[in-house]
Amino acid sequence: MARVTEDEVRAALTSVLEPQSGKSIIALDMVEGLVVKDGNVGFALEVPAERGAALEPVRQAAEETVKALAGVLSVTAVMTAHKPAGSGAPAAKPAAAAAPKEKAGTDDIPGIGSIVAVASGKGGVGKSTTSVNIALALAGLGKRVALLDADIYGPSAPRLLGLSGKPETDGKKLWPKEAFGIKAMSIGLLIEEDQPMVWRGPMVQSALEQMLRQVEWGEIDVMIIDMPPGTGDAQLTLTQRAPLAGAVIVSTPQDLSLIDARKGLNMFRKVDVPILGIIENMSYFICPHCNERTDVFSHGGARDEATKLDVPFLGEIPLDIRIRETSDGGHPIVVAEPESSFAQSYREIAQAILDSVADNQRQAPKIVIQ
Ligand code: ADP
Repeated sequence: MARVTEDEVRAALTSVLEPQSGKSIIALDMVEGLVVKDGNVGFALEVPAERGAALEPVRQAAEETVKALAGVLSVTAVMTAHKPAGSGAPAAKPAAAAAPKEKAGTDDIPGIGSIVAVASGKGGVGKSTTSVNIALALAGLGKRVALLDADIYGPSAPRLLGLSGKPETDGKKLWPKEAFGIKAMSIGLLIEEDQPMVWRGPMVQSALEQMLRQVEWGEIDVMIIDMPPGTGDAQLTLTQRAPLAGAVIVSTPQDLSLIDARKGLNMFRKVDVPILGIIENMSYFICPHCNERTDVFSHGGARDEATKLDVPFLGEIPLDIRIRETSDGGHPIVVAEPESSFAQSYREIAQAILDSVADNQRQAPKIVIQ
């Protein structure tokens, strides 16, 4: 039987309509990273973060439509939430305007060892999924771990770790939530969900400060901060509020987000935060039926780019439905399937981050400007 072609897949997908506009998902340019190989089809649907749940039927319809084509063995459509990012984001301007000029908030926080920021050039690349799985992997390596979810545009820690309810407080201090052996706090637990975006920018500054300094974290070896996506002023200000040991950038192999990743690197360089390295997410795809490995998008792009930019490459995570299902179901893969190769990859990346932090601390004595 002749195997399906990319053109046939695209032609079929023109019949799948996005309900709000009535236009096809092809016309709206929602289909990204289409891979067709030996009858196995994979692609991503880029959707606005807030419409992710509402558009799930569209993702399913897209999968079903392609599955019905002759010569198709398997179809995986992944929804990626494209959130407002960078300086064009609505909240970025007020946040920047509210930012103090001096380098505030960079004193060490008692009890907290190293703080590592996880950033990305844009939304939907898997930054939050990666942050949570790395935090859990670090705990698996015996570290006392905190996860601070500062992703104002779409806080995901509550969903990924199954957290809910306002944090306990005595009026002065807040207590972190606990899940799977790590402590966690999310801006999503502090800010009302229906809070208009325009208010969020200024609020994120004080919320981050509060999450860093008013939460009873106890003794923590490593804190992971899930940053808002993007490289605009709001993000830059955030990096100045926390005494960071370093930053990692999550990127898909696609060229576009690599350009964004480069912007992310520059943002951290501007404020003298060491770059611990780049992680390539949705790096390749293993067909669940035939176990054959398929390179998604332009696999290896992040590794090449890391070499070019002279920053460490920390590892790659494949595009796999189990990573999505376990994360979105509140049991990230590192704890849901600790024996899996995916969990192993996250543990290797976690170890690479620890090594990189230790290296940086050895090489770079802290310069104190009086
Ligand atoms: P970001 O924080 O960059 O916006 P998320 O972590 O929320 O991205 O991920 C966006 C979507 O992609 C989620 O539905 C998530 O489950 C899915 N996802 C992330 N990484 C992977 C992966 N390696 N394989 C499959 N799905 C993934």
